[in-house]
Amino acid sequence: QGLERHQYASDHHGADAIRSKVNENMDELRVLARHEYLGRREKEKFVLLIRELEILEDDIKKYGWDNLSERERSEIILKRELVQLINSKRSIEDTNYYTLAHDDADNSSSPTDKKRKTLYGNEYDGSKRQRNPGEIWEDNQIRNAVKTDAGHQIDNIQVKGSEKYDYVFDEEAMIDFTSDQEDMLDDENDEDTSSGEEDAELENLREKLNMEENRIVAIQESRKLLPVYKYRQSLLDAIKENQVLIVVGETGSGKTTQLPQYLIEENYTQNGKFQIAVTQPRRVAATSVASRVADEMNAVLGQEVGYTIRFDDKTTPNKTLLKYMTDGMLLREFLNDPMLSRYSCIMIDEAHERTLATDILLGLLKNILLHRTDLKLIISSATMNSTKFSNFFNKCPIFNVPGRRYPVDIHYTVQPEANYMNAAITTIFQIHTTQALPGDILVFLTGQEEIENVRENLEAIIAKLGSSIPQMLITPIYANLPQEQQDRIFQKTPNGCRKVVLATNIAETSLTIDGIKYVIDPGYVKENAYVPSTGMSQLLTVPCSKASVDQRAGRAGRVGPGKCFRLFTKWSYYNELEMMPKPEILRTNISNIVLLLLSLGVSDLIGFPLLDKPSIQSLSKALETLYILGALNSNGSITRLGRIMCEFPCEPEFAKVIYTSATNETTKGVLEECVTIVAMLQEVSSMFIGSSKEAMNRVVGDSNSDHLLYLKIYDQWSESDYSKFWCKDHKVQYKTLCRVRNIREQLWKCSERLGLVALNIKARQEIPDITNMNITSKISKCFITGFPMNIAKLGTTGYRTIGKGKANNGLEVLIHPSSVVYQKSHMEEGRKPTKHILFQQLMLTTKEYARVILPIANESWLNEMVPQLYKKLE
Ligand code: ADP
Ligand code: MG
Repeated sequence: QGLERHQYASDHHGADAIRSKVNENMDELRVLARHEYLGRREKEKFVLLIRELEILEDDIKKYGWDNLSERERSEIILKRELVQLINSKRSIEDTNYYTLAHDDADNSSSPTDKKRKTLYGNEYDGSKRQRNPGEIWEDNQIRNAVKTDAGHQIDNIQVKGSEKYDYVFDEEAMIDFTSDQEDMLDDENDEDTSSGEEDAELENLREKLNMEENRIVAIQESRKLLPVYKYRQSLLDAIKENQVLIVVGETGSGKTTQLPQYLIEENYTQNGKFQIAVTQPRRVAATSVASRVADEMNAVLGQEVGYTIRFDDKTTPNKTLLKYMTDGMLLREFLNDPMLSRYSCIMIDEAHERTLATDILLGLLKNILLHRTDLKLIISSATMNSTKFSNFFNKCPIFNVPGRRYPVDIHYTVQPEANYMNAAITTIFQIHTTQALPGDILVFLTGQEEIENVRENLEAIIAKLGSSIPQMLITPIYANLPQEQQDRIFQKTPNGCRKVVLATNIAETSLTIDGIKYVIDPGYVKENAYVPSTGMSQLLTVPCSKASVDQRAGRAGRVGPGKCFRLFTKWSYYNELEMMPKPEILRTNISNIVLLLLSLGVSDLIGFPLLDKPSIQSLSKALETLYILGALNSNGSITRLGRIMCEFPCEPEFAKVIYTSATNETTKGVLEECVTIVAMLQEVSSMFIGSSKEAMNRVVGDSNSDHLLYLKIYDQWSESDYSKFWCKDHKVQYKTLCRVRNIREQLWKCSERLGLVALNIKARQEIPDITNMNITSKISKCFITGFPMNIAKLGTTGYRTIGKGKANNGLEVLIHPSSVVYQKSHMEEGRKPTKHILFQQLMLTTKEYARVILPIANESWLNEMVPQLYKKLE
């Protein structure tokens, strides 16, 4: 099938060219269509857009309509509709209102109009008057007024008593299901239907357009219904009077989306002189909220409203007023602009999450507030921890936004659940088959793998049950999910259907999904935790705190009374759970943050203001790590290398790998290879379609390590001219590779700026015939210098991590089955494992696994590259 597709592609280059343009400018057109009147700027924009559309239309003429898919055709028709709508706005306006570049004072006979007439044939009629949004809104209001509200059946729901809660589905029957569904490229939709019913199609599109207009009116109305709206003025007054204000409110009350808009409306940006920054602990929250707010402000995402997350900056200089960003990105901005001089307001959102970056930000901000008396700081938090923030900022006022929350019935399991994923699936169907519609379900899982797993299972069961149950719409949400799919969770659930949202912790407080009436909570979360036996931080699945599970339950009570099904016992809730989540700074490796603070000139680490101070041991461990990496000298001050490591938009360890690959006497010349591998390693979690096995078998060849496999994948893909079909054939996610390409670009630019590229070219010229062997050993050495602690040594019982210090014997680890090293050792009988391996990740589940592995062919490299550490150990 892959081959066929490839053939198809090369036969239809023209169609491909059209295809790539179909989606272009859609957002801009939509925004223009929403404007009641077009101002000068909008009109100029429109003229530009029309030119691009003309090219598209020419292409269509040349290559034909027939090679396009149904969806692409609809998009183009929608585009034409939008153009007509925008045109009709021009025609109802006062003529002297516009002075276009074409100077087409005479509306009907202007050259652009003529051209357009030929383009759109009979469909186009510049004088035809379209209904404007105001009229549509009025119509809609009348329709709504006549409709009586019969949607409230909440009270009819009968649920068994909480203590008696048990399952109706037989669990064993469910485990047998397997899924043969693969997550193929999701934007392929090329069924060919060539029906000639264009009228119906047009009607359909007109309907869609109307719906869009109605949606916009509805958004503006819903803004006014949010709890914060009532307090708009008093909030603004409080912000005016205080430099620091803490805003506390129930999740969903409008803190994140509304407050920044109020600040803009109040001209805190001084007409674009300043920006407003809002930080989020999570990438998904930053992008998703930015897109929502852009929608509310009738703006194109990336213009007035944008976001900045690592490796992805969607903002426009001198244009963006409001910027949603991860807390880590604002932290990095201190490096270039220690006074944050381009901001007039900073909102630290979701402060209760107490991520490492948020805690450090609060400390740094506390320092600069003294110098920047004009800077406003808003700290917003769900209803936990707020007095602690107030005390930290000299008892600054706390503004409480009273929320609304309907009662939520809590149900516990009678016995502890051994397998919470199965229990969750059973509970989903139990709710779905016994509870009336509407009422969506939100399930809290710990990560992408779990979510995809549950999704596959659910889909398989639904396929078996067929039409015997009501329709179910499954929508996942996790960090690496592509934006288009993220948006699906917010779309309104169709009638007669139930939405099941499978979410990570992101839905606990950062994102609010309307319509949720049932919450299923296994009570676990993935957390960054310091594991003493390895001397490193890693992601662990741990039980949530009481505060967290209570927040989660609250998600069920936003639209009306709800129910929360906890997949653990009542006893466990009262006796086993911690009260509060532990702040990240107390449970993770802080060396990267220490390096950042040192490079910002904060030398008194102990005196630095923090809500919770890390222990002295944790601090000295961080300093030791940095010393081993060469970022600090023996006096504890930052070295030139340390500063270079801060320059890179990645973890300092990776920066060290890149630096070494261009500068070290024995390794220089492999910069390109290392930059590619580092870029690939940023995205490992979503690399393959389905299991990694198949992809490996197709690409693997003679790769002995995951690192080289990733290098090979990228190189082959780039040789295929970044082809989508190559990805499909090799079971690699196309979108992930596109992200990698972008990351690689940024790392490369940074290397260029630091002069590493020039050094690399020179080194490459000096090595006349570089062999594969040569390259492999150089790459291995570079990774050893970056990750000297991530080494495991083969003993009598398998690999064991190299612990630091005598008291520590390290941790026994298995090689993860997803690794090419594992596969090779199973494929090739009698293959001897290397004495040492380097790993990028440790995964502690029921067993301890090392993932993403580079076998070290020659053990002397360890001592050669990191004598500070390996001399001592021998
Ligand atoms: P808070 O920050 O106080 O938790 P938010 O400002 O995030 O509240 O959300 C306010 C409301 O905006 C939510 O109740 C939700 O209805 C709506 N909302 C937020 N994001 C989206 C989105 N992407 N799509 C649709 N509605 C949204
Ligand atoms: Mg929020």
